[in-house]
Amino acid sequence: MARYAGTPVPLVVQKFGGTSVADAERIRSVADHVARTRRHGNDVVVVVSAMGKETDELLWLAGEVSSTLPRRELDMLITAGERKSMALLCMALSDLDCPAASFTGSQAGLITDGNHTRAKILTVRGERLREALAAGRVPVVAGAQGVSEEREITFLGRGGSDTTAVALAHALGAEACEIYTDVSGVFTADPRLVHSARRVGQITFEELLEMCAAGCPKPEIRSVEYARNHGVRLHVRSSFTWEPGTWVVSDEEAANHPEDPRMERPMVTAIAHDTSEAKLTVTRVPDRPGIAARLLRSLADEHVNVDMIVQNVSLQGTTDISFTVPKADLAVALATAKDHAAELEAAEVLADSEIATVSLIGAGMKTHPGVTATMFGTLAAEGINIEMISTSPIRISCVVRSAVVERAVQSLHTAFGLS
Ligand code: ASP
Ligand code: MG
Repeated sequence: MARYAGTPVPLVVQKFGGTSVADAERIRSVADHVARTRRHGNDVVVVVSAMGKETDELLWLAGEVSSTLPRRELDMLITAGERKSMALLCMALSDLDCPAASFTGSQAGLITDGNHTRAKILTVRGERLREALAAGRVPVVAGAQGVSEEREITFLGRGGSDTTAVALAHALGAEACEIYTDVSGVFTADPRLVHSARRVGQITFEELLEMCAAGCPKPEIRSVEYARNHGVRLHVRSSFTWEPGTWVVSDEEAANHPEDPRMERPMVTAIAHDTSEAKLTVTRVPDRPGIAARLLRSLADEHVNVDMIVQNVSLQGTTDISFTVPKADLAVALATAKDHAAELEAAEVLADSEIATVSLIGAGMKTHPGVTATMFGTLAAEGINIEMISTSPIRISCVVRSAVVERAVQSLHTAFGLS
């Protein structure tokens, strides 16, 4: 389509993850898609991740030469991964006669704080991207990186390219931010566990945030928060099939434009599960002010991320406190809780890594009573014991034995009519 000076064309930001640019063939296929999007009349800004497992390999290499791993140098190293992808994609675009230009995070004007290896975005300038667009070029930006006010190169952290894409979409006023990955969207359950799982056409930011917290691996939770806070419409889709994926929109948009206009909102949108956590129980601690605070402070000081917390009613003045932590933090959490057991006057500290959480997520459950009863009834009928429960207005999570999580997800998927 011809471009006439002064006629604004809708802008989309397209972000391609590591699997989408894993090798030369995939890069050429991404270039083809970008060029096609442009021919269809859109302006495009592209954000790329590092190729395949490149970031892991660079981190491995760093570990081979150093045990001190200076964080400034780590950022300099890791950000080279995305730089490689952006240049290669621009070369592939050149062969398709699609004018493109690569930009590092710094060149794109992504200004961050100076916290190396997990920098936060402060502002997005984007002048050079606007200039490139005005000159008829496709800007291709290296994901997950920026520059600090002290002019140091910074890395936003693992998965940070999603946040780069959302931040650019917001700053440049894009119509949508497309996150291309190796799955074709958000599903009603993990398709590897439930064969009848379906792709959800539309989901709200809040629902997706709950799904991310309940074990759904993609997209990066921080980018979903950014998109919600700034009203950036997300489209999570596949760079392998190129079919339409899942739109992530505001609650208001979802209510006004439901996926299927004949239908009322379903009670439950999806079932998520998570096998990455373990449970710790501190038994018979005194039921008095300050005990839980002291326990949680000691864990926070060791950077342990505590998720679900349950405290029992007290019998004879003592109670049990159970909580979940990422399995990766279990050893540290256990050692810390044991170190403080005497101070907490606890009887013992028990660890259990054979747990899983299964969660129902749905904005519709706010207006439908009885969801919890159906969930518990379904698990009971399967003979599945519930060990811990936690809820939010749009999520119910249960801890169960990890051996039965597959059955739990399957039976709930059927019980809530998602199959
Ligand atoms: N390549 C980096 C990672 O794998 C950052 C990103 O692309 O999101 O975490
Ligand atoms: Mg990624």
